[in-house]
Amino acid sequence: MRLSKLYMPTLREDPQDAEIASHKFLLRAGMIRKTASGIYTYLPLGYRTIRKIENIVREEMDNAGAMEILMSAIQPAEIWRESGRWNKFGPEMFKLKDRNDREFCLGPTAEEYFTTLIRDEVKSYKDLPLNLYQIQTKYRDEKRPRFGINRAREFSMKDAYTFDTSEENLDISYMNMYRAYENIFDRLHLDYKIVEGDNGAMGGNESHEFIALSETGEGVIVYSPSGKFGATEEKAPVEYSLPEKEEEKEIEKVHTPNAKTIEEVGEFLKVDKKKCAKAIDLMVEGKPVLVFIPGDRELNIAKLVSLLEVPEHEIRMMDDEEIVKIGSHPGYTGPKDIDTRVIIDKSLTLMNNLVIGANEDEYHYINANYKRDFDGEVAEDLLLVEDGDIIPGTSEKYEFARGIEVGNIFKLGTKYSKALNATFLDEDGKEQYFVMGSYGVGITRSVTAIIEQNHDDNGIIWPIAVAPYQAIVTIVNVKDNAQRELGERIYKDLKKKGVEVLLDDRRDRAGVKFKDRDLIGIPLRITCGKKSKDNIVEYSTRREMENSDITAGEAITNILEEIKNM
Ligand code: ATP
Ligand code: MG
Repeated sequence: MRLSKLYMPTLREDPQDAEIASHKFLLRAGMIRKTASGIYTYLPLGYRTIRKIENIVREEMDNAGAMEILMSAIQPAEIWRESGRWNKFGPEMFKLKDRNDREFCLGPTAEEYFTTLIRDEVKSYKDLPLNLYQIQTKYRDEKRPRFGINRAREFSMKDAYTFDTSEENLDISYMNMYRAYENIFDRLHLDYKIVEGDNGAMGGNESHEFIALSETGEGVIVYSPSGKFGATEEKAPVEYSLPEKEEEKEIEKVHTPNAKTIEEVGEFLKVDKKKCAKAIDLMVEGKPVLVFIPGDRELNIAKLVSLLEVPEHEIRMMDDEEIVKIGSHPGYTGPKDIDTRVIIDKSLTLMNNLVIGANEDEYHYINANYKRDFDGEVAEDLLLVEDGDIIPGTSEKYEFARGIEVGNIFKLGTKYSKALNATFLDEDGKEQYFVMGSYGVGITRSVTAIIEQNHDDNGIIWPIAVAPYQAIVTIVNVKDNAQRELGERIYKDLKKKGVEVLLDDRRDRAGVKFKDRDLIGIPLRITCGKKSKDNIVEYSTRREMENSDITAGEAITNILEEIKNM
């Protein structure tokens, strides 16, 4: 492709709303353009990279025995109602109606859709296992669309679904996809970690996330230094180290003016924050719920979500009026003598002589003890992991890292097949529910992860495997015959040899060409300058940026060699 013809609207200036490198460079390199918040157009260079990623994903999925299909992006509401997710998905789902008032959604994912397809088609164990996938646009009305196509409202996802006869067979299908994902992210040249995930809204009982490491990532993961354990922050178990139990003392109501926060209360009463019960006053599906954890810790909302089995969007903080309405006082809520659902983190039940709110303005209790003075549902572990925490069952401390979730695989079990009544006949002619798994790769998000890991101040540094073009030939001065002729000759030769190559044959100044070349990040580069008349070119790679003067033939050989080894 000739740059004189290519639609590549590069920008000199950093776009205002671009906070991270990938967003900035995708816009500046003329790869994407914004239509509306979280909705983007992919321009020629951007779309080429997306198609390359799709093809790598496709090859690895096909190799693993999965079969590609394409279902509609529009899905009927009924199947989501049957599974119970029409409301559960909540405000993230784009809903629409046709002219006859029939309801649909723009698919945010497709567990229901695939399950109903198989439910109506596959009758016998003989047709199993089955692994189907699609690469399809997904829609999620994200609360905070950010970072360009990293967290978009319209994005491309590869989603796969497996159907098996038993949990054991699901384990095989799951591991097969796990390996396929390793191959995919290796081929995308991502530096990533695989960690245990929280199944969340998806359901099921085991999942893994593939996290591309990046300081700009929204995901926090924890892992053991030995590499044996890794999990998302949401999933990480916390085993809290607690003070020795002491003798139970007499409970006492004390005046604690202006001591509302844990800091203030602990300071005022001279009690370790750990032993001051922190109240989290919530409305869950419109009903009040009080959650108590140790004062020095934070609540892990994902753990609460899975305990309550309600979607996160159905949980919010109470306002002051609501706190008064349940018979308490803002800043002083406690688990004693209150007629509201109370959930207590287990650690609070293992310590004694606690400080708790007295549900009365300016009063706390000291020396409160679980069971003797207050009661409630005990939750095993509601705590967010923290620096310094020990990984349960080991003597290792958690390490922390940030990253971008590029893939996620789930063992779903029979959650969807049961909800949608999808069965097959087993060897004994007995009806059984399909045992399922689902597997997602963020195609467009992967583009952003690759750039976050591969850029410098001047632009993108594409790994060859996903570069929109593998090589670029720059003619420094197109008015110079020798330069132009050599550039054209090399360009044609590379094309003939199957290299995806750009020719910068524009009339622009050399500086502009070099800047654009760095910005769009083409990995292998030949410059035809002053020495062209002697058949000498400058050869360099985008990553190393070191020029060497070599013959045109040698440069071509280098490029072919690099592509062979990519
Ligand atoms: P997140 O936690 O980042 O919101 P998710 O866990 O909800 O993502 P999944 O349902 O696991 O997402 O979807 C599978 C994959 O699709 C994710 O691993 C991610 O790579 C991609 N993805 C999800 N949401 C978006 C989005 N808003 N924009 C771009 N890619 C996305
Ligand atoms: Mg996920």
